Amino acid sequence: MRVPLGNVGHAYIFAGEGTLLAQANAFAKALNCLEGNETPCDSCISCRVFASGNHPDTVYVTPSNATGYSVEDVRNQVVKPMATKPFSYRYKVFILDNAEKLNHQAQNALLKTIEEPAPYGVFLLLTPAIEAMLPTVISRCVVVKYNSNAQAQINEADEAVQTLAREVAETAHKQDILGALALYKKFEPFKENKESLQRLLDMLYTLYGKRIRETGEAHAFRATEAIMYTKQALAANGNFQLAIELMLLKICGCDIPQKVVEF
Ligand SMILES: [Zn+2]
Repeated sequence: MRVPLGNVGHAYIFAGEGTLLAQANAFAKALNCLEGNETPCDSCISCRVFASGNHPDTVYVTPSNATGYSVEDVRNQVVKPMATKPFSYRYKVFILDNAEKLNHQAQNALLKTIEEPAPYGVFLLLTPAIEAMLPTVISRCVVVKYNSNAQAQINEADEAVQTLAREVAETAHKQDILGALALYKKFEPFKENKESLQRLLDMLYTLYGKRIRETGEAHAFRATEAIMYTKQALAANGNFQLAIELMLLKICGCDIPQKVVEF
């Protein structure tokens, strides 16, 4: 999801079906990304710490018993920690999964903090059942609805990624240089979608990694090197077309003199 830059709300409800926690994680990561773009850069210290699962300014609130969150949970895990400024980053992000498990008392305990949030506090309440939330809570939150259509779009994008990964492998197998260059056009739609592009490159990497283990081919090894190089070049904001074309040529068995690559 894209972060509305300069216009970050203090409380959100992610409501509906699908991978709400994954969406919340991506949002929390982007909020504290040091690059300050709408999508996380995945390479700054904040993004890397986030990926390790130990981000100091992301708080996962959890219910202390099976029936749900108690007032004490809200006090101990939200109200009290909210009084302390973020350790290292801009926002302190509180993620409450299954927010429908906040009973009315617990929601009321949360309400004051949502009404008068610290300037650094951001709440992400995730729930498949928004009707369980009190109207007073809902009215203080930006509601972001997810439905199965959104999930279908994600699946469709994943399918496009898989198809392209297969096409690259087939072209490489034929050592078709012109075909390799022509494939660049199919990478273009991924230029603005970092997440899908990363998945695509990871998928190619896995594919060739598997081939190295199966066949020990030197070519497969060179392909994995080229893919890693491309990932680094793109993370460092290198030229997109150049990085992808060089990768495709190398995967397809074309030896490019180092001199041409460095400029
Ligand atoms: Zn970042």
